[in-house]
Amino acid sequence: PVALLWFRRDLRLADHPALLAAIDAAGADGAVLPVFVVDPRLWGPAGAPRRQFLLGCLADLGAQVDGALVLRSGDPVREIPALAREVGAAGVHVSADAGPYGRQRDAAVERALGDVPLERTGSPYAVTPGRVTKDDGTPFRVFSPFARAWRAHGWRAPAPRPRGVPWLPGVRSDPPPPAPGLDGVRLPPAGEDAAGAAWRRFRDERLAGYRDTRNIPGTDGTSRLSAYLKYGCVHPRTLLADLDGVEGEAAATYVNELAWRDFYADVLWHRPETHKESLDLRMRAMTYDAGPDADERFTAWATGRTGYPIVDAGMRQLLGEAWVHNRVRMIVASFLVKDLHVDWWRGARHFLAHLVDGDLASNNHGWQWVAGTGTDASPYHRVFNPTRQGKEFDPDGEYVRRWVPELRDVPTRFVHEPWLAPGGTPEGYPLPIVDHAEERRVALDRYEAVRRA
Ligand code: FAD
Repeated sequence: PVALLWFRRDLRLADHPALLAAIDAAGADGAVLPVFVVDPRLWGPAGAPRRQFLLGCLADLGAQVDGALVLRSGDPVREIPALAREVGAAGVHVSADAGPYGRQRDAAVERALGDVPLERTGSPYAVTPGRVTKDDGTPFRVFSPFARAWRAHGWRAPAPRPRGVPWLPGVRSDPPPPAPGLDGVRLPPAGEDAAGAAWRRFRDERLAGYRDTRNIPGTDGTSRLSAYLKYGCVHPRTLLADLDGVEGEAAATYVNELAWRDFYADVLWHRPETHKESLDLRMRAMTYDAGPDADERFTAWATGRTGYPIVDAGMRQLLGEAWVHNRVRMIVASFLVKDLHVDWWRGARHFLAHLVDGDLASNNHGWQWVAGTGTDASPYHRVFNPTRQGKEFDPDGEYVRRWVPELRDVPTRFVHEPWLAPGGTPEGYPLPIVDHAEERRVALDRYEAVRRA
């Protein structure tokens, strides 16, 4: 029999339970047909960096499956059943998708397949979303107890990388979509081997210092694995197994970050509407600014011209690398929502269009956390002060100077508030577009109004 293996966010061969299930189903004299569907509903909004990265991952995967990878462009609800009929597939194998669109799409594909079963084995998470619950079966709303229960639940050992897979050759493939113009954005190398190499470099050279340096955007303190995890070039279970038995706070901190990834996927699984709607129902009454003034502020933010150095550095890093340091993601998100009073969802969409690791669960719930509408236990009234954050986490201004060349010659003391520098704000760099102290009060007043209502 032919087993169809439909790749989605699992673009690797190692530690891939659905691949093993497909090999098993194909049996000794059968074959596995690997397919990827370029779905316009996901491809369109992905943004150029993610499309380019994904194309690289597909090229890498194609080489690993001896050129047998079949690409089809179109709606998977039509394409997958058509391909299954074309090759007489006995079953279609996937890693389960936990996102709102993916779940609904898979249910529709399942119906359209009729008698051919859609087999879900594994997921892109250490623990499949929905599995970790409180004792009474209800979902966790707060991270720390989730993380404890998640660790107690545990995950399976990594599956071995299969050898000699009987890939089915010679099936018609659509050409890959054209490469998007990248406009100078620098992306990491794509694919499974690149993911493994990035992980080993981090584990051997930077993991030991991770706890101390992960908050310093001017250093290369984090693993930079997010895009690989997003597209499944590496599975988190592989990393967790590698960290098993590694003593010390650094490894524990890293495991905790992987738990955040699982947590947000879990929250979204239980409450799919929260990719767009506030998780906290009361916060749905929050008022945000819209109209030409808000648009102008949004543009200043998006182009890195707010006059707040750490905010501008972050937004320019987004345009330059399609990736932003986590600390700075929090700072720029807080600034958009609480200093510029723009709806978090607008910022989240902008991020998804520009990040190479853009992921609905991590991104939109990361935004909700900062906006005080989501899972954060100490919500709206915590407003990041961009100047103080800059001084604390980029004390020598290395990060800011790297991304905002106009500030290169500003003395360190003033690099996060150049308007105070003896020579004044350097030419070409804007004065702050808003007064943080004032906007903080506006934000808190609006919050108070929601709370009282
Ligand atoms: P490391 O510090 O090396 O962490 C290792 C891995 O743990 C990451 O690759 C990621 O998979 C996971 N992780 C770490 N922190 C978080 C977190 N706070 N939430 C969820 N997972 C986490 N992450 C994305 O993968 N995609 C997104 O679209 C995304 N958008 C974000 C938007 C905002 C506003 C905020 C505050 C955070 C967002 N994050 C997102 C989380 C985090 O910023 C990135 O995962 C991290 O910066 C990626 O860099 P790294 O791989 O070097 O991280």
